[in-house]
Amino acid sequence: MAGTSYNSKDQYIHEKDMKLRQSFVLCSHLMSVEDADIETDREGFHALPDMGIGVIGKYRALRDMESATPNIIVRESVYKKLCAADRAMKKRPEYQTCQLVVTYGYRSLEIQTALWNQIYEQIKMEYPEESENEIREIVHTKIAYPEVAGHPTGGAVDVVIYDFEKEAFLDFGTEVGDLTTTDAYYQSDAVSETAKKHRADLREFMCKQGFAPYDGEWWHFSYGDREWAYYYQRRAERQRPNEEILPEERVKALYRQKKFSQISEIAHSEKYRLSKEIKEETRIRLAVQKDGRLTEETLSILERSGIELTRGKRGFLSQAGNFPLDVLFVRDDDIPNLVEAGVADLGIVGQNVYWENRSAGAPGSGIVGENFSWAGKSKSVIERELGFGKCFLGLAVPKSSGMKALKDLVGKRIATSYHNLTEQFLEVHGLKDQVEIIDIAGSVEVAPLINYADAIIDLVSTGSSLKQNNLILLNNIHILDSQSILISNRVSGNDREKRKIIDRLLERIDSYLLAKKYKRVVMNAPAVNRAEICDILAGLADVKDLSDDDSCNEELRAMRDCQNPLAIGIPVVLPSYGFENWDTIQVIMKLSDLWRITPELKKLRVCNILFYDIEGLINFE
Ligand code: ATP
Ligand code: ZN
Repeated sequence: MAGTSYNSKDQYIHEKDMKLRQSFVLCSHLMSVEDADIETDREGFHALPDMGIGVIGKYRALRDMESATPNIIVRESVYKKLCAADRAMKKRPEYQTCQLVVTYGYRSLEIQTALWNQIYEQIKMEYPEESENEIREIVHTKIAYPEVAGHPTGGAVDVVIYDFEKEAFLDFGTEVGDLTTTDAYYQSDAVSETAKKHRADLREFMCKQGFAPYDGEWWHFSYGDREWAYYYQRRAERQRPNEEILPEERVKALYRQKKFSQISEIAHSEKYRLSKEIKEETRIRLAVQKDGRLTEETLSILERSGIELTRGKRGFLSQAGNFPLDVLFVRDDDIPNLVEAGVADLGIVGQNVYWENRSAGAPGSGIVGENFSWAGKSKSVIERELGFGKCFLGLAVPKSSGMKALKDLVGKRIATSYHNLTEQFLEVHGLKDQVEIIDIAGSVEVAPLINYADAIIDLVSTGSSLKQNNLILLNNIHILDSQSILISNRVSGNDREKRKIIDRLLERIDSYLLAKKYKRVVMNAPAVNRAEICDILAGLADVKDLSDDDSCNEELRAMRDCQNPLAIGIPVVLPSYGFENWDTIQVIMKLSDLWRITPELKKLRVCNILFYDIEGLINFE
């Protein structure tokens, strides 16, 4: 500051503040940004869990939304980006035991407007001479102008870093949300070197995921709002200083401000009250996929286990009337986190999603499957493999590429939505630094077609999608074989009351899984072949299989032990009315056995084989 003299330290500080403030965005800047894109504005909102070691949301300085939405809510993409920022942060050794904590997210447009009006009146009285525009700018430095404000879009968040091992927030020089001091300015010189480093690191973690920072508050970041659009617009202009940017090239905001009434359906749903609820009776909570490939089978397992859900699958939460179980409907990607955080006690999810997530949560690099061992701490365990949703994570290349072996991938790009599993796979095969991973969320199989990648790692079940896109599996490599699994939170699993309920549920599921293997089979057969056919059928009685099976439950054990015609594998012969030379034979057997003996039965002129699912058995003894 050579050459300038100041009357007092106060003035010096004031001048310096003014200098720092030059980089702040003005209200008029934001008013010049084009309005939110209608399509992108349709995006939904997501409630942040308020416990766990991933990203969580907890109100701190600002609490004006707390009574309306106990859990902080943000746009879905914002949540995803926060998770990615959190994961990336944990890869840095000094942040391994840290987590991002969002202290403020969506604020209703109603509250924003009320606050604005209040401050506007004060400023107007203080500066009666100033023009309307000038007053608006002054008010905007204290509270964002509702029309351009970020928090009401659900795109802006206030973020801090918490160290869950030290049980303390990192030092950022000021408390989050403290606007009483100019130390809150990102570039403030008055804070310690440690605080400066934490600010810079937080900014790096967030901006790498596409958030825009705000120089006036070290904790404020946004995605999709006008501040974000303005920030990225400016950046584009700086990168192409001599080019004119056409109107259609300008970065538009993605989200508009929302009134509380527009999103209150979400905010009032049980989903948001979950962790606040105090329950008298112990109940367990199961997270399942809301709407996808796993939904139907999952609901069918519950139904067949005798669990009646009171609400359709459209609600967030459905309570079982006849069992202490609540079912939470969410996106499958959220299930491992919800169970890990204990927001749900149980979850049904594909192994692929589970391992992708668990490896991401692990400090350092976690590795999965047979070749892999996972070193991190997990708060969830696998209780059962459920036998449906079978697929595998395969590595495919274009047929025409001529690639034959893993080493052909050197210098190539692999597109995938399974970043962590892919990274680990490459690492195990010593290819980590030689292959580029391209993250895409969907339609991975078209990436090679449009020359966006040279290979893909994606889920395969029938392989028809690969065929359609002229892709073939490289070496038939299965990076991960997957099916649906039932996972549980460790703490819930060790809680005496909850364990009892979980075991009761598992018993029913086991009964279903076992019963699913068996069918009631009815066939018409010529009476002359009766003895031969019955010998074949009786030979299938698979008593050993049942007694060895730990999961064999009461009902099935009864089915096996009762020496009456309904026992498994004992054929019952009935006369066919009007067809004296024909029998109707009934038997309970495994479906796999039926397919195996069909050729023999055909030889014995059996016709009309019908088979039925077994719902259960009531045994009076
Ligand atoms: P959500 O909207 O809940 O995030 P999603 O689009 O991520 O759903 P789905 O396509 O419904 O997921 O698939 C759910 C799970 O089904 C997968 O994670 C996987 O475990 C299993 N699955 C079985 N076969 C396939 C397949 N051929 N392709 C993709 N997933 C499969
Ligand atoms: Zn998903």
